[in-house]
Amino acid sequence: MPSVHIVGGGVAGFTLARELVSKGYAGNIKISDPEGLPYDRPPLSKSLQREYFVPPAWFEQHGVSLIQEQVTELIAPTAEDEWVVLATGTTPKKLQVPGTEHIRSLHTATDAADLSAALEDGMFGQRVLVIGAGLVGAEFAATAKMLGAQVTLVSNSEAPLSNVLGVEMAAVLHAEHSRHGITVLSGELAEAGAGYAVVGGQRIEAEILVAAIGVEPETTLAQAMGLEINDGILVDDQQRTTTYRQVLAIGDGARMTQRSRAVHWEAAMEDAAIAAATIMGGDARPHSVPWFWSDRHDSHIEAVGDFTRATQHVSRLNRRGQLQVLFGLNEAGNLVAASMIDGGQMSKAVKRLIARGYTPSIEELQDSSVGPRDLGRQEKA
Ligand SMILES: Cc1cc2nc3c(=O)[nH]c(=O)nc-3n(C[C@H](O)[C@H](O)[C@H](O)COP(=O)(O)OP(=O)(O)OC[C@H]3O[C@@H](n4cnc5c(N)ncnc54)[C@H](O)[C@@H]3O)c2cc1C
Repeated sequence: MPSVHIVGGGVAGFTLARELVSKGYAGNIKISDPEGLPYDRPPLSKSLQREYFVPPAWFEQHGVSLIQEQVTELIAPTAEDEWVVLATGTTPKKLQVPGTEHIRSLHTATDAADLSAALEDGMFGQRVLVIGAGLVGAEFAATAKMLGAQVTLVSNSEAPLSNVLGVEMAAVLHAEHSRHGITVLSGELAEAGAGYAVVGGQRIEAEILVAAIGVEPETTLAQAMGLEINDGILVDDQQRTTTYRQVLAIGDGARMTQRSRAVHWEAAMEDAAIAAATIMGGDARPHSVPWFWSDRHDSHIEAVGDFTRATQHVSRLNRRGQLQVLFGLNEAGNLVAASMIDGGQMSKAVKRLIARGYTPSIEELQDSSVGPRDLGRQEKA
């Protein structure tokens, strides 16, 4: 009997199972994950809630076995119709300072539930110290503030996430934290203890300490299987590992040899679609232009493309003179990236333009009266 064993039930692993089901895969599908029923991670830092992809009945209805287990060893299958797919995601990076046992992370639904309970503990609002102002740190700081906590956010950069948002947009968004009543500090954490942390020589009292300093690929199982790893489990453009043809890897824990590793929700889903095509035969759409979103302080933030390739930035301001969209152009003057606040359809428009290789004029990019539908109209004319 053909079979697919998916290790990891995050968005990549679950999407693969759903793709196989929707395409009528005629073999056994099994998902192993110690977390049990698959849930989505983005809501964890936005609402501290666990949101399941589907109810438990979906698995029974579609004959997908869900096993609550941590897989520690696996033998690579050799039969042409047997597959193992590693969708093991990432684990949070750890700080290397004394007292890390007092510092929490926000990566799993259990972390989110624990933080939610801790925030509710204080009668007049808990004091929260967040170390790291990237996507998860910034979102959690905003959520904790909204829930009534006194929040201090520590960053070692004036413009966190500038590699993905562009430095001007990153700086504007970082400055928003202070406007919303969050105390922003720059500096490095030196030490933590019960109810305090020392940052840049200053002792800060806080009941809740959270580190959000990034993630690294979870490759323990891949290492045990002898797979090739280099900033992620290395795969080709069909998601096959470079070591075994019948072992695939997808999602944040995997990296295509010719690309940098993506750590975003949409890319993980696209990996899953490619893996489904590899398993069932047929063509899969290649990866689209990278896109991610983030929500904080009532703003919806999106970024498209790759700001590390941009050498020139073009700003579009809204009617109040505030930065709304930042476009990134490469040395040849081609549009390669954009980031935006409450951009509506703009991200889709920019995605299309980058995919087609069309760059509107600088005037058009700057002109806020040119909406997403009209951007690039010269190309259509
Ligand atoms: C708090 C938070 C907020 C986020 N917000 C956004 C956002 O707003 N926008 C965005 O684009 N992206 C966001 N992301 C990133 C996005 O969630 C990830 O890109 C996505 O979850 C990656 O999916 P994945 O399936 O590769 O990995 P994961 O979601 O990490 O899932 C991996 C799964 O594998 C399981 N696993 C690992 N090892 C084993 C093993 N040996 N055996 C069995 N199971 C195993 C783990 O338990 C886990 O459930 C956020 C991430 C976090 C943590």
